[in-house]
Amino acid sequence: MIIKLNGYGYSSNSYLLVGKKTILVDPGANHLILEELKKNGIKNIDFIINTHCHFDHSSADHLIEEEFNCPTIIEDKEVKHLKSGDKVTVSSLFGANLIPPEEIIPLSEIEEELKNYGLEILRTPGHTYGSISIIYEDGLITGDTLFAYGVGRWDLPTGSLIDLRKSISLLENVANERNINKIYPGHGEIGDKMAFNYAKLFL
Ligand SMILES: [Zn+2]
Repeated sequence: MIIKLNGYGYSSNSYLLVGKKTILVDPGANHLILEELKKNGIKNIDFIINTHCHFDHSSADHLIEEEFNCPTIIEDKEVKHLKSGDKVTVSSLFGANLIPPEEIIPLSEIEEELKNYGLEILRTPGHTYGSISIIYEDGLITGDTLFAYGVGRWDLPTGSLIDLRKSISLLENVANERNINKIYPGHGEIGDKMAFNYAKLFL
């Protein structure tokens, strides 16, 4: 089951993947995520996954870690940025410092294990160079790569329009092959395959 937790303010959406393990994708940027989890009766989280290192997705990692004592998984190239809160995290756009979580696991070290919990990771660079998307059950969690009605920015540090185009077409192929019709984006509403038509208007 995928449960969407709305982001407040500039916080990203958060998604709870509930199955063999309980995994929180992108805790967002403030303590309200803790209230949302409480509302949903969540008493345990096994892992945090960040779709990328941006501040609005990752700066509440440490709050979740404190509460649930769980590690944070992020694509290998993004690890150093999350640890340092450097310009790639765009924390300065939000006028804040990023407090990193203490335990960070590079994705490559745990990717096989994640398959056992029903997650398949797709590398979808373009918004940042280590952006990932996740296939889970009937859905595709796309971070800031693909939204219901558009695509993420490619002009921020490590972004690339060429990579973003390739990533969108990878996602479209996967969605078609697997008959996936639910897009769970990093911001805004849940979308469907129409998202790919909208995406092409921007690329
Ligand atoms: Zn982002």
